[in-house]
Amino acid sequence: MKCNIIQDLLPSYIDGVCSKETASEVETHIKDCVQCNKTMQMMQQPTQYIVEPNVEEAKEPFKRINKKRRIQVIAASLLTFLIMIISYQVVQNVGVVNQFFFPMAHGIVNITDDGEEWKSLNFNEENYLIYDRVFWKKSIVNSGSESIDSGSEMESDILIRVKDINGKVVVDDIQVKSGKSVKLDGLKKNEKYFFEIKAPQGRYFINAI
Ligand SMILES: [Zn+2]
Repeated sequence: MKCNIIQDLLPSYIDGVCSKETASEVETHIKDCVQCNKTMQMMQQPTQYIVEPNVEEAKEPFKRINKKRRIQVIAASLLTFLIMIISYQVVQNVGVVNQFFFPMAHGIVNITDDGEEWKSLNFNEENYLIYDRVFWKKSIVNSGSESIDSGSEMESDILIRVKDINGKVVVDDIQVKSGKSVKLDGLKKNEKYFFEIKAPQGRYFINAI
């Protein structure tokens, strides 16, 4: 085999990664060829000189770097995990958050006669409403109405009045036009209020916000 081929093979021979056949070829050649023998020794020497004496010393900083890196990876994973949990919670509770900052109570009332009588207006299936947070706008929204018989849409204005726990009228005869809202003045936080509605026949969708 030619010297240049042998020298190409030397690195893998030294590393012990070439085939047995190649290795024996190299060994046979090396025995007889001074030049290639020299080359091989030169290739082996720096490896022994540089790497081996420093192996132990070199390990320490690597270990340190590895440890630091490991901590970074763990921290990053934890952070990702936390962000995922928080995002999940936010998504899950968006309704709750909304309800907290933009409180709203729904009322549906059927008025079956055109009598001029006040009818109780329940919100969230309670016959009273408490403005339990500062975020209540204390407004009534006339969100729409429909005919009880046909379900066809109507545009009817309504009258609202509010009584306190003693039955005293605190807000009287407030008109809320169809699709509009009206702010109710003088209502306090954390008091029970009872709402009443007067309107033409129909089913009314009223929101308290
Ligand atoms: Zn040679």
